Amino acid sequence: PRVSGSLPGPLSRAELDAQGEVFYAGLTHGTYPFVARRKSGWLVEDLDGNVFVDLVSSSASVPFGAGRADLVAVAAEQLAAFGNEDSHAVTNPLMSRLARRLLGVTPASLTRVDLSLNGTEAVETAVRFMRRATGRQLILGFYGGYHGESTTTAALGAEHHEIGQGTRGLGGGFVHAPYPRPFRSPFAPPRPGGSGDSTVDFIRDHLLFHAVDPREVAGVVIEPVLGSGGVVVPPASFWTALRALCDEHGWLLCLDEVKTGFGRTGQLFAAELWDLQPDLMCLGKAMGGGVMPIGAVLGTEAVLGTFDDVSTGSTWAWLPAACAVALASLDVFEAEGVLANVRALHEVSAEVLAPLVDHYEQVGDVRVQGCFVGVELVTDKVSQARAADLQEALAAAILARGVLVDSSTTTINIQPSLVMPPDLLRSALALVVDAVDEVLG
Ligand code: PMP
Repeated sequence: PRVSGSLPGPLSRAELDAQGEVFYAGLTHGTYPFVARRKSGWLVEDLDGNVFVDLVSSSASVPFGAGRADLVAVAAEQLAAFGNEDSHAVTNPLMSRLARRLLGVTPASLTRVDLSLNGTEAVETAVRFMRRATGRQLILGFYGGYHGESTTTAALGAEHHEIGQGTRGLGGGFVHAPYPRPFRSPFAPPRPGGSGDSTVDFIRDHLLFHAVDPREVAGVVIEPVLGSGGVVVPPASFWTALRALCDEHGWLLCLDEVKTGFGRTGQLFAAELWDLQPDLMCLGKAMGGGVMPIGAVLGTEAVLGTFDDVSTGSTWAWLPAACAVALASLDVFEAEGVLANVRALHEVSAEVLAPLVDHYEQVGDVRVQGCFVGVELVTDKVSQARAADLQEALAAAILARGVLVDSSTTTINIQPSLVMPPDLLRSALALVVDAVDEVLG
């Protein structure tokens, strides 16, 4: 017998108003009081029946639009067949199939997989392996980096404006260095050129200045394209210099591809943009097709194939339904020309948004990498505080035009679904430009 065939109804206004009484921070984290009633593909309907074009994709965790029916069906079938499979008990065939499939599409340096529940757990596990494999405690992270909300991953991340304020969390085993930002960004390392090799020179000086002994550093955890921190794409020269620095000191290189992985940058993994061969790679978010939570850390034989005394895996980490959806998502990438569409969307974003830099002195930079777009409002003429005001006004103006973007920082982040038709993105971005004209013009 069916227990319940219907969805819960939408919250009433009264229930909504009462949220403040039960939730931490009253659930008013966002920049506007937006409550989704339902989603379909790249459309979101709010409580009042207004429909918005979704350019957020649930923090880049939903690659093919919300509620894709065939992926939901794959998950449902596995849930009916297995329920969960505790990672410490039984081995489910889907797990090893997924592991082999992942190793087939990621850099050749990676030979082993550990599955996890989400991106946060993957990064946690990576840090643990890095310390075990090197016998060193310190991990180097980056200003503007984001790796999760657990105690370890939150300490690994850092705000941009912490630059020059020392090495936050040093006692907790983390040091931070500047991310290679464009020279015109106020967050760029203070050196001519501001990026590439000079960033790595700056990292050396920075560690020296803070009296960090490189022999105590286990390795580097870095987003190959800075995501939540504002869509920053390092130049190729940075990666060459960083790999050399790692090799010089015996540091492991861990790429956090939780957000960049599974197509967002126009390659299946951002590592392919520069042919990077990392020691570890963290995955999550879109790995589950936007339907199930799943993550993974992949590692070299020397790191993940050598130690068996590193404890990993939580109760729901090897959920068969999540493994099945991850496999089915990889099929979607292969069968449906997703990456070609991402590249077409890249062209649209670049064409429509790049001119904003020339038209408005309040726009510091427009950065596009596939379905990853950042419009930075802080410039050498616009302070962080002024940019925060602009950000708020812009968020409201964009929303009023029926478009949902991530305006939680002073870089407006735009992350369309990877399979959105280019013409629809063009129309939605025209509305964003219209909002910018109103607020900045
Ligand atoms: N790493 C990166 C680069 C992320 O963007 C995020 C989430 N925004 C995480 C890790 C943590 O992933 P999750 O919240 O899905 O566990």
